[in-house]
Amino acid sequence: GTISLDAAIMDGKTRAAGPIAGTSNAKNPITVARKVLEDGRHVLLSGAGADQFVNEQGLETADQDYFETPERREQLEQLQSGKTSALNTETKFGTVGAVALDSEGHVAAATSTGGITGKRWGRIGDAPIIGAGTYADDRACAVSATGQGEYFIRVGVAHEICARVRLDGEKIVPAASAVMA
Ligand code: ASP
Repeated sequence: GTISLDAAIMDGKTRAAGPIAGTSNAKNPITVARKVLEDGRHVLLSGAGADQFVNEQGLETADQDYFETPERREQLEQLQSGKTSALNTETKFGTVGAVALDSEGHVAAATSTGGITGKRWGRIGDAPIIGAGTYADDRACAVSATGQGEYFIRVGVAHEICARVRLDGEKIVPAASAVMA
């Protein structure tokens, strides 16, 4: 019944990245991810350490109720009573992904999510795993993924798409289709 959040942002020009995993106090996880990128000392912060980073940087925090909605509470209850699956495609909304291309040809990717309903044991999804759910490389493209994170992590989906574009000269859509096949 508690909520934890994953987010990542990546700059395709420098391949600097700033993911956070399993944070529970950041009002805007993507802002924290950007701060991690700008800070540059580490690439991935998680759990209590990520929450501490939020506090030390003076970033905006929110209580757990801020993230909770009646729809998500109901979804969790349905999952717990075996009436639905964690990634029911009819109720699976909320992950936010963005890719951008600027006028100088630089790309960037960002992903922010609460993950999947009913996740346990400190489960981390693909969004903050650079190369799985988020990746940006000026030499190829920028990717932000949504779906069952375990799959994206195992396949290294976002990096794999960029690698096909960069090394094989594939177009982005066919490269994505091939990786997801
Ligand atoms: N990819 C996310 C995760 O597995 C979930 C989603 O995209 O809805 O954490």
